[in-house]
Amino acid sequence: MSFFYLTPVKGDLPVHLLEVILLNRVEHLKTILTDKPMIYNEYVVEGSIYDNVGHFTLCVILILCEDREFTEYILKSELELFKRRLTSLSAYELRSFAKKILRSIKKHDKVPKVIESLQILCQHLMLKEVAQHICSVHNSDCTVHSIRLNFTQCLRLVARRQVEITNGVATVPCGRWLQYIISLFRENLINRINNTDVTPLKSDVRIMELLHKIKKDYNLSKVKPNVLLSKDVDSASRFFPPCMLNLHQNLRRRHRLSHTQRFHYSLFLKDIGMPIEESVEFWRAEYRLHPNGHHSCCHNWEKDEKKYVYGIRHMYGLEGSRRNYPSVNCSTIQSIDSACSEGGCPFKSFDYQKMVPLLKNCSEPVLSQIIELKKKRLYTNALLFTIFDPILGIEAKDYSLADIDSTLSLFEDFDTTMISRSFGKKQPDRLAFLTKEYRFISLLSAFVGFKFPATQQSDSHAAERGPEDEPGTGVPPPTDETSIPYGAQPAPYIEAGDGLESNTALIC
Ligand SMILES: [Zn+2]
Ligand SMILES: [Zn+2]
Repeated sequence: MSFFYLTPVKGDLPVHLLEVILLNRVEHLKTILTDKPMIYNEYVVEGSIYDNVGHFTLCVILILCEDREFTEYILKSELELFKRRLTSLSAYELRSFAKKILRSIKKHDKVPKVIESLQILCQHLMLKEVAQHICSVHNSDCTVHSIRLNFTQCLRLVARRQVEITNGVATVPCGRWLQYIISLFRENLINRINNTDVTPLKSDVRIMELLHKIKKDYNLSKVKPNVLLSKDVDSASRFFPPCMLNLHQNLRRRHRLSHTQRFHYSLFLKDIGMPIEESVEFWRAEYRLHPNGHHSCCHNWEKDEKKYVYGIRHMYGLEGSRRNYPSVNCSTIQSIDSACSEGGCPFKSFDYQKMVPLLKNCSEPVLSQIIELKKKRLYTNALLFTIFDPILGIEAKDYSLADIDSTLSLFEDFDTTMISRSFGKKQPDRLAFLTKEYRFISLLSAFVGFKFPATQQSDSHAAERGPEDEPGTGVPPPTDETSIPYGAQPAPYIEAGDGLESNTALIC
């Protein structure tokens, strides 16, 4: 039995044992998404009967429970489990993994498209020299071996321009194979959840009881991801985009921000994970102090607490029109006339003297690139360099926007193994900050207007999606090397007349 889970095992099992298997599996999957060390679990041993039974029964539970959040959570952790197992295989184990899959495919008379390409790949991986190559000196740019597929079988790779296409045939180099198997695993799993009819089981009391136990266990242990506490903002601010770092420094220095800037900064903090109660605490701590220096504001927290709290609650969609407001993005910030306020895009509106102190994390060569981009008015690209420079590494002087693009794709996949292998040693703090749940994605989508598939509304419908709508293909590939057109997307900004500005404008 392979841990790709192509075929469910057949046989009888007492219900109480099934329950033990399932609860153990869910417990194991929970640990995978945390930083806690993995503990050996006899019910989740790779390729064992319990592992197989647990996986397939959990799929049945997901279909029956129709809970999107729970389904996404399990999908994400099953995917992570698969990645870890796959990337830790020795050459010998990789060959046996491929052989098991091929044996399993042979038992089926008709195989879906996903499995066809898996078959082609496994026929290569079972070869001794190929497996040894994959498990030795070989990285994601390696092209020593390759397989040829119809381009429709690897749309994700096509969208990211990671394969070459000739007459509709894509050449997938070995550097992309593991990434490709992972995407096939994901696709196969989503198809299964999507297309398996388990209606008869709905009247089976035993399975429904199991379902309730697992859901209860999950709800009890739900951890709130992506939380930014008020007390942690100072230390986190060094990872912020320079425009927000600038606002943060202004606020700390003068204890006030002008209305629009406070609005932008609050939304940013909200989007990178600050819960409402922390937001109230954060603003209270500053606004209870006297304004420092020349500032027209005559309000303070003590006197105007109600109005401030109302304004914050409004931004979180708890008052008024009850809209959950998104952060403003790069193009909006660039379009603001910041001549008379403390905000704006530092790349666009600040002179050299004022801009450079905000770019402390950048290496010398990147700083000169940024200055070039500033001259060319490519402010959004300058921002991308700022964010990526410290993790891409100071020694890699000549990286281009294409490298940034391929790094984005690692983050997009939450390919944590690959990410920490590539960048973990260089900037562990920054990496931990960026990879914490969806924080990095929020950050980039907020600023660059780049929408990862995972942040789009439609992705929460992943389980309902047909196989032809492979997620990820909606991302347009960059059109040329000098400019990534992410910023070109419409700004997710507040429409006129929704009442927020007028409601909170009471307070400057
Ligand atoms: Zn290779
Ligand atoms: Zn005021």
